[in-house]
Amino acid sequence: MIPAPAEYLLRCDDLCPTISPERWRRVESLIEEFKLQPILAVIPDNRDPELEVSPPDPSFFERMRMLEAEGAIIGLHGYRHLCASRGRSLVGLARDSEFAGVPAGTQREWIHEGLRILREQGLNPKIWVAPRHGFDRNTLEALRAEGITILSDGFARVPFRRCGLTWIPQQLSSPVDKSKGIWTICVHPDTICDEDLAKLRAFLTVHSDQFTSVYRVLFGSQPATLSFAERIYAGAALWRLKISRAARRVRRSKLLRSSNAA
Ligand SMILES: [Zn+2]
Repeated sequence: MIPAPAEYLLRCDDLCPTISPERWRRVESLIEEFKLQPILAVIPDNRDPELEVSPPDPSFFERMRMLEAEGAIIGLHGYRHLCASRGRSLVGLARDSEFAGVPAGTQREWIHEGLRILREQGLNPKIWVAPRHGFDRNTLEALRAEGITILSDGFARVPFRRCGLTWIPQQLSSPVDKSKGIWTICVHPDTICDEDLAKLRAFLTVHSDQFTSVYRVLFGSQPATLSFAERIYAGAALWRLKISRAARRVRRSKLLRSSNAA
């Protein structure tokens, strides 16, 4: 049964102490203003140079703990956010991945260590958020062994069970008005531009009462394997996304070529 009207979840990716505190603060103030209970996807031991844009913020983990106490759910966002593998992901979207294709023993170590680091900071990671949608069956086995049974990914309109975990779908990278279903909007606070932030604020102003939390989504519901019709829907949504990403890449490379020629 697809819930109507639509419900929304906000997911904030790439959180770590070295992202720009000013930019994060702009998203955090929306969370506070609209009393949201988002998914906070935290990188345990960031080594991605693109996310090292400021000196480590000493208050970062304190802010995460406060938001968790107010109802946010902490996501384990990979381990070091270095996407050096080219394994095949269960989601089938990205080509580079931190986890998919990495030997099972290494994945187990990374997940164990990532959880340990976040717990040492007083956080309670409950949900898996893979960098670039990249993970395979070995990742899910390692997560289950560590007691993590929920992940944020997939393109259906309802939570579902697959490979022994509950999947909360994540379909949108900016707000879109939907009539039914559970929709996760993923934002990257470190790179969100003023225009996208204004768009999110405008959407929240109209739809804030439709924003929910992972705990509310799962409370009392018993996600099952996807129906055939919903699998078709999710497969078509994935292909639409792949096509739009490919078109964006072509547009970007054309722009680059024309600016090089100028
Ligand atoms: Zn990421």
